Amino acid sequence: MLPCHLMSHCTALGVVFPLAGWHWSWCACPAKEVTTRESGLRGVAFRKLPYPLKRLRLSAPMAAHSGRPHAMATGSGSSTSHFLVWDGRWPHSLRSRRLRGTARVTRSMGDLEIVQNVPLKRYCTWNIGGPAQALAVVKSAEDMSKAFRWAAVEDRPVFILGNGSNVLFDNRGFEGLVILNRIAHCEHLGDGFFSVGAGYPINKLSAQLSRSGWGGLEFAIGIPGTVGGAVYMNAGAHGQDTGGIVSSVRYFDGDGRLHTVDGACLQFGYRYSIFQQMERPVAIASITLSLMRCNRARQRATEYWRRRVLSQPAAARTAGCVFRNPGGGSISAGALIDQVGLKGRTFGGAAVSRRHANFFLNKCSCSSDDMLRLIDVVKREVLMHSGVKLFEEVVVVPAKS
Ligand SMILES: Cc1cc2nc3c(=O)[nH]c(=O)nc-3n(C[C@H](O)[C@H](O)[C@H](O)COP(=O)(O)OP(=O)(O)OC[C@H]3O[C@@H](n4cnc5c(N)ncnc54)[C@H](O)[C@@H]3O)c2cc1C
Repeated sequence: MLPCHLMSHCTALGVVFPLAGWHWSWCACPAKEVTTRESGLRGVAFRKLPYPLKRLRLSAPMAAHSGRPHAMATGSGSSTSHFLVWDGRWPHSLRSRRLRGTARVTRSMGDLEIVQNVPLKRYCTWNIGGPAQALAVVKSAEDMSKAFRWAAVEDRPVFILGNGSNVLFDNRGFEGLVILNRIAHCEHLGDGFFSVGAGYPINKLSAQLSRSGWGGLEFAIGIPGTVGGAVYMNAGAHGQDTGGIVSSVRYFDGDGRLHTVDGACLQFGYRYSIFQQMERPVAIASITLSLMRCNRARQRATEYWRRRVLSQPAAARTAGCVFRNPGGGSISAGALIDQVGLKGRTFGGAAVSRRHANFFLNKCSCSSDDMLRLIDVVKREVLMHSGVKLFEEVVVVPAKS
């Protein structure tokens, strides 16, 4: 029997979760740690549950388990204790970028866990991609250094991932170590200089700074990437880009050594930074931004946000613009695709957006092959009709590097 104070929340869960693939068991039982099902891997979503338990505790993560993982939370109410059992499937809307699913901890280096066999589709906005052989979530420069060391010792290639909003992973996954950058500090150094961790969301930073009257980063409102990804890609919009406000960058080279370089040396161009040319992958750890006081910053950010919402399929599974705008950004790739009549064209589960022709959607169970075939078709038809060769802006990550 469920106590009354839990009924309303149970009803809410009952409506939402079955649709999304959740199956919950609610049981009243004596107050004690629940051990009836093995392996509570990570149950972070439970922390946000609104029900009025006095104490909510997650069962300890267990490294080795067989079969489908079950996350579990225990908590005690006033007279009884209740537990929830999650069947291991995550609804799309709740897929935060956390380690879970079939992942197994293979090794830990201090606080840093290296996890095996992690589905990459959970870590990119396109929601496409097979498993990474290994994945590490780094939250500090020390973690980053450890991750590089691990990859060197194990002789594995490395891929640095931000928010995965501009990447296409292969359905066969990635044979190497994916380093998920979550270094996320933000500090005002004075005089408009800000030190920001490369894992900090650039959209959030833009909103915070423009709200506080700092101008220069308003263009980034609505860009769903990290600060590191924005520097690497030199992300931009509304005639401005990230390179224009970067004062310096701290990054790890392919051997895991830390360097600091002046923004002026990074050769920023249209969706280009010198990091894209480096032979071995580098990891941007933090940057220093230089901004100016501006009393119209907030208003400008609001206007940019409005324009974005009106012109882009923001709620769909996309990776932003698939192609770079030709002529160094002066010709709209979206307009070229539109002129050829390709809006709405599909291949398998991939489709050209009807709202913005340079955005391609993962409509339903889209594979990397579907997306690559659609990209190919569009490139061919645009070349045939307008004589312009399109180049991808999205980073295609092969399974083997
Ligand atoms: C709805 C939508 C709207 C978008 N709008 C825009 C827009 O207006 N303008 C624009 O320019 N882009 C836009 N994008 C694309 C994307 O958000 C940006 O390119 C963003 O900067 C990518 O950041 P990320 O952290 O997601 O990088 P990821 O996609 O994770 O990675 C992209 C590349 O950057 C590298 N990288 C990421 N982090 C680091 C790091 N710390 N160190 C070294 N290399 C790193 C990766 O290795 C990869 O090669 C949009 C995307 C979406 C889905």
